[in-house]
Amino acid sequence: MVEAIQVDTMERVVSLCKRRGIILQSSEIYGGLASCWDYGPYGVLLKNNVKRAWWRTVVQAREDMVGLDAAILMRPEVWHASGHIETFHDPLVDCKSCKQRFRADQLISANCPVCGGELTEPRNFNLMFKTFMGPVEDSAALVYLRPETAQGIFVNFRNVMTATRRKPPFGIAQIGKAFRNEITPGNFTFRTREFEQMEIEYFCPPEEADAIWERWVEERFRWYRDLGIRSEQLRKRQQSATELAHYARATVDIEYRFPFGWSELEGIANRTDYDLAQHSRHSGQDLSYFDEETKQHYLPYVVEPSAGADRATLAFLVDAFAEQSDDKGEIRTVLQLHHQLAPIKVAILPLSKKPELTEPARRIAEALRAWWTVEFDVTGSIGKRYRRQDEIGTPYCLTLDFASLDDHAVTIRDRDSMCQERVPVVDVIPYLQEKLATKITNLQSDTIFSK
Ligand code: ATP
Repeated sequence: MVEAIQVDTMERVVSLCKRRGIILQSSEIYGGLASCWDYGPYGVLLKNNVKRAWWRTVVQAREDMVGLDAAILMRPEVWHASGHIETFHDPLVDCKSCKQRFRADQLISANCPVCGGELTEPRNFNLMFKTFMGPVEDSAALVYLRPETAQGIFVNFRNVMTATRRKPPFGIAQIGKAFRNEITPGNFTFRTREFEQMEIEYFCPPEEADAIWERWVEERFRWYRDLGIRSEQLRKRQQSATELAHYARATVDIEYRFPFGWSELEGIANRTDYDLAQHSRHSGQDLSYFDEETKQHYLPYVVEPSAGADRATLAFLVDAFAEQSDDKGEIRTVLQLHHQLAPIKVAILPLSKKPELTEPARRIAEALRAWWTVEFDVTGSIGKRYRRQDEIGTPYCLTLDFASLDDHAVTIRDRDSMCQERVPVVDVIPYLQEKLATKITNLQSDTIFSK
């Protein structure tokens, strides 16, 4: 029963996403392309906010991090060195009767889970997408779409370190698309063949790696909680020795309890010096760091917090989704998104279509646009307009009524408490800055120069 309700939640989130243009099926007018999704107008705002929140926390707010945006296409040697050409595959089996394909490691019985038919022997299926560079489609022109953003960081390690005059411990962060020809994509945007990663490679002296890894696990866990995910829906799970990737010494997965079960949002791995050693060997370039103090060369260890932007966005959506019945017994669908993540921060809703109200309302909207994403909506009853904003998670709705023309004040409604406050128009911006936590506080000389 509980499961049925939860599966239902997933369906409702998917249908809300479609109805409100948050996430849409790719190529829908041609029947859709399996497991590919497009982020619509609200979806792109939401996902950008997720990526910005990540960047702000892991790059902007830290002294020891810098950013990078590497190309998707790289020399094929990179994927030999990283081990992806030799080992990045899943065991694939086909049903001899119904022809369906499965990942052998995900099956519980020896027969087809759909029709009970006999399965073929497992064969390795490499998950990398291949394409050709230039006009000739031969093996010399073969390139891969990157299956992770991490390698772009490793191959740039030395250049970035030199150019930014860094020394370990320091990290490089990157957000970008990755592609995996997954055998069994599914659960909406949870597992797709094209997705976006938010990855950090944190380079450190080997003896500091274990402690640094533990700190990153805590910091990354806190990030999801700080952005509003309920703690009981989040957990850390340490991978067992048999689960660990060939390069990892230890990995903790941060998991979210989706309606389809506990599933990984992010993995934090101690990758040792595996990657830099491999790239040194394959490229013939020395990627070690020379420590001026100890006069020693060493290959830094790497701690890698690797998250998915789409999975995080899906977790924020599912966690924020609520259906509440109001005093009239009507169901209100609301996305209780953290203010930082909400696609639209303020909706401006004049109570009448008459120019006496719409003109000043538009002027307010215009002024607020300098600060926030704002939507202006004049169509339908005010109840309907509130509901439309609740559904996309808009934290504040500002209404203008005929009394506003006399008292020069507006009403601001809070999405979560549904409380309304009358605010003089001259105070609207500071009021929203306070509520949306965008108020800038001045430096205080006694704090700055305190001993
Ligand atoms: P899974 O076990 O779910 O396949 P993974 O352990 O292979 O994931 P990693 O290689 O550690 O994933 O990638 C880091 C992150 O990238 C994952 O935690 C996830 O958020 C995201 N990710 C990986 N594969 C996909 C995918 N097919 N679709 C969407 N996001 C993905």
